[in-house]
This record gives sequence, C-alpha cells and structure tokens, in this order.
Amino acid sequence: MAKLISGKEVSARVKAEVKAECDRLKEKGITPGLAVIIVGNDPASRVYVNNKKKACAEVGFVSEEYALPESTTEEQLLELVDELNKKDTIHGILCQLPLPSHLDEKAVINAISPEKDVDAFHPSNVGKIMIGDYTFLPCTPAGVMEMIHFSGIEVSGKNCVVIGRSNIVGKPMAMLLLHENGTVTICHSRTKNLKEICSQADILVAAVGRPNFVTADMVKDGAVVLDVGINRLKSGKLCGDVDFEAVEKKASYITPVPGGVGPMTIAMLMKNTLSAAKAANGIE
Ligand code: NAD
Repeated sequence: MAKLISGKEVSARVKAEVKAECDRLKEKGITPGLAVIIVGNDPASRVYVNNKKKACAEVGFVSEEYALPESTTEEQLLELVDELNKKDTIHGILCQLPLPSHLDEKAVINAISPEKDVDAFHPSNVGKIMIGDYTFLPCTPAGVMEMIHFSGIEVSGKNCVVIGRSNIVGKPMAMLLLHENGTVTICHSRTKNLKEICSQADILVAAVGRPNFVTADMVKDGAVVLDVGINRLKSGKLCGDVDFEAVEKKASYITPVPGGVGPMTIAMLMKNTLSAAKAANGIE
C-alpha cells in the first residue's frame, strides 16, 4: 500500500517557513505584498482567489484584490497591470486565469513585470527556467517537486513520465524533473502506447484533467504517483486524474485529491512572493 504524501502537511511546513521569513522582513520594515486581479464572475476563479488571499493573511503578507467586471477592456486591464508594476508596496502580481475570451491572456502575462511575475508565466521567466537559472518556479510543478523532496524521493536517474504538456503544468514539470537528472518523457493527447510508456515510470505525474485517467494497469509496482488533476464530478465531489483506490495498492507513494498538489500550489505562490519582496529590497 502506498504512503500518502499529504499536501496539507507539506504546504503547512512551507507556509510556516515563509511566515518566519516574513516576520524577519517586517523587522526591517518590509511587508511582502501580493496583488490579485480577477476579471468576471467565474466561480472556480473566485474560490482560487479567496484561497490565495487567505494564504497571504496566514503568512503575514498584504494582499490587494482587484475584482474587475466581465466588460473590462484589455486597455483597462493593461493600465492596472502597469500601475501595479510601479507600486512599491506590491511585490507580486497575479492575474487569475482564465480571462474572459475577449481579453488576450498572452498580452496580460507579457505586461506583468518579470520581477513581479510570481506565477512565473512571463516568457522571460519561462526562458530562465529552461536554462536552470531562475528566480521563480511555476507554482504547481514547484509544489510537486517540494512533495518529492519532503518524501526523500531521489529523482536522479529515474524514469519520469509526465502526462500533459501545458505551459502551466506539464512542460515546466518535465523541465524541473530534468534539472534533477531524471530521464523524462512527456506524454500528451497524441502519444501512442501511453499505457506502455507510463508503466515504465518510476515517477509518474498526471496533469490531464480527466477523472480516473491513470488506471492501475498503467502504473509500475512501487512507482511514485503524483496527481495534479483537479476534476469535479457530477456529484460535486473533487477528484484527481488517478484511479486512487486501485493505484494506491501498487504505488510506493501517492498524492491524494483533494489535499495533495492543490494546497502546494498556493504555498509555492507565497514562497515566490517572499522571494520577489526580498529581491526588490536587495536581500539574498
Ligand atoms: P490542459 O488542458 O492545458 O492540459 C491537459 C494536457 O493533457 C494536454 O497537454 C493534453 O495533451 C493532455 N491530454 C489530454 N488528453 C490526453 C490523453 N488522452 N492522453 C494523454 N494526454 C492527454 O490542463 P492543465 O492546465 O495542464 O491542467 C491539467 C490538470 O491539472 C487539470 O485537471 C487542472 O485543473 C489541474 N491543475 C491543478 C493545479 C493544482 O494546483 N493542483 C494547477 C493547475 C492545473
């Protein structure tokens, strides 16, 4: 039976470290500040934004919410980003995605100053991740790595398979595993022999967005299985991409949903905001 890697436990530890550092910064007169922009009324986005604000309060950051109506124009949104780029008390800027379809997500991401881009979505930060010389790591893949480290799992030389190739999760996830000397395969919707490839994995990361996508026959005995997926079933219950009940019998480690990678993402956002505040004040 697999050991459970609890995102609640690991994220609590990360947030406690961030809070301790935040307290030290406050003694120097610096309070990390995160601005969160939300456009429109998407209920899932509202939940994410509330959780981010709650986490800021927990670690002692200032958070500012900018809730804009659905009708906001790109010009207005870019003006706000520009204002926040210049605001000294704000160290991190996050624009909750997805944006309403009339707004260009790329233009908004590009407008955020790379120094304040705590999601690490700006092309300049993405490039830095590619060459392994980064200030911020994208929160979800960084959270997965934190869970791997916390559990004492060695990545070097392991067969790592990432299912999903999105810019937010799959691609950077693969890069972080590669930086730690994993032998990495990225699978996606056009991959042939998915089951065969996955069943070779020592470390399997699922980031697809489909309930029960990873079944026990795709998992090698003793594999580490990290489930990034967040899916809402018709019953209203949340579940990941992995058939948890069957896979936990084969895996050595597994992350649950909820209570797995989800809380890690927010904890890593706090860590990035702290790094941004330190960098803005010339603190190593
Ligand atoms: P996405 O839709 O952008 O990407 C999904 C990926 O799955 C694609 O790259 C696609 O190629 C791949 N895919 C689709 N069908 C496939 C198939 N049949 N075989 C193999 N690959 C297939 O999604 P995303 O933004 O990367 O998110 C993935 C999941 O992770 C979603 O459930 C999302 O809600 C969740 N997520 C969770 C967190 C978190 O904090 N835990 C953060 C971001 C995303």
